[in-house]
Formats: sequence, C-alpha cells, structure tokens
Amino acid sequence: MQKRFIPAVLVLSVLLAMFVVCGLQMERTRARFATGAEVRRVYLTFDDGPSTVVTGRILDILKKEDIKATFFIVSDMARTRQETLSRIAKEGHSIGVHSASHDYARIYASDEALLSDIDECAAYILQVTGIKPRLYRFPGGGHERQKELIRERGYTIIGWNAVCGDEEIKDATAWELSQEAARTSKGKDPVILLLHDSARHRATADALPAIIAHFREEGCVFCAF
Ligand SMILES: [Zn+2]
Repeated sequence: MQKRFIPAVLVLSVLLAMFVVCGLQMERTRARFATGAEVRRVYLTFDDGPSTVVTGRILDILKKEDIKATFFIVSDMARTRQETLSRIAKEGHSIGVHSASHDYARIYASDEALLSDIDECAAYILQVTGIKPRLYRFPGGGHERQKELIRERGYTIIGWNAVCGDEEIKDATAWELSQEAARTSKGKDPVILLLHDSARHRATADALPAIIAHFREEGCVFCAF
C-alpha cells in the first residue's frame, strides 16, 4: 500500500468501527424499549398519611426528583390536612384507599365494617380531590373472602414486596432506612416499596433522597400505580 493512503485507511477503519459500535448500541436500546424487560421498575408507596410536615417534605423531594409515587390515604388524618391531600392529587401522584380510621378493632369487626371503612375513605378522597380511588391497601391484611368483596367493589388491591423498615426497625436512622430499602428490594422486579408518611415518620422523609439515589444508580425507573 502506498504510504499516502495509510492515513485515509486508518480514518476509514476508525469510522467503520464507530459505526458498528453505535449500531449495536442502538439495537440494544431499541430492544430494551421494545420489550421493557431490562428496565427494572420501582413503585414508591406511602401509607398512613397525609401528615402536614412529613408528607409535605416527601412531596417536595418527589417534585424535585420528578418522580410520581402512590399514596394510600387514611381519611381521618386527611380531614385536618385537606390541603396536603389536594396537593398530592394536583402534583399527579396516585391516590388509593388505606382506611378511614386505621382502627383494626373497628375495621375488622365484620365484612360490612370493612367495606364501610373503605367507602368512607373513598368518599372523602372523591370530595376533596375529585378522584374516585381505584386502589386499595389493607391496613392489617385480609383473607380471601374480604379480598373478593373489595375486588367486586372495583378496587385493585396493592401489596408490597420490599420495606424501608420505618415500622419494623425501632428509632431507625435515615441511613438505616435507606440500607433496609436496598436490602429488601434486592433482586426484585418490580419493586413495590412500603414507606410511611404519618407525622412520626420524619426519618422516612430524611431517607428518601438516598433511597431514590440508590434505585437511580441501579438504573431503575420510578412508577406509580
Ligand atoms: Zn397503615
């Protein structure tokens, strides 16, 4: 080969190699979007609120991070925090029924009591936000007959498969909560993470940025129900 052609050949080879690499990368990206299989999903779900300070701080963080979450409401809490409940709806988060009273003795007294607790909470959510909730999370678990009755009322029952430990670990620090969220969600897809936003869960709001950072580092996408 003549010497003056060598630089041109080298440039062409490099360009060809870049072309092949880019093509492969595009193919991989296209496959990921087509199947959705490689994108791990995380649902942040908050129970027992709203509270003024903790829910407010959580909403600020979610807004800053541009993440939508799911809030399971206790309507007795919401009655004195109507503005916070409205804000959850206005900012585009999903809202579900958790309970009116969160009082197990009352709720689980009978099937009628359970359904009336759900109806009361749903009616309040509708009155304040204009949204008719279609999601339900048991305050203390339910058996199959109760699940069937709730599904017949048109609800999708949402459980969880990972926790941040804000109910399980006594006086947990924000660091412990973020570690627990990472530990219990390991290997799960989707991750449905249980968190709490009632007034005593300040550490949960403190831990939220680290929890979000952890899932972002793992390449997850955040979803709401
Ligand atoms: Zn609860």
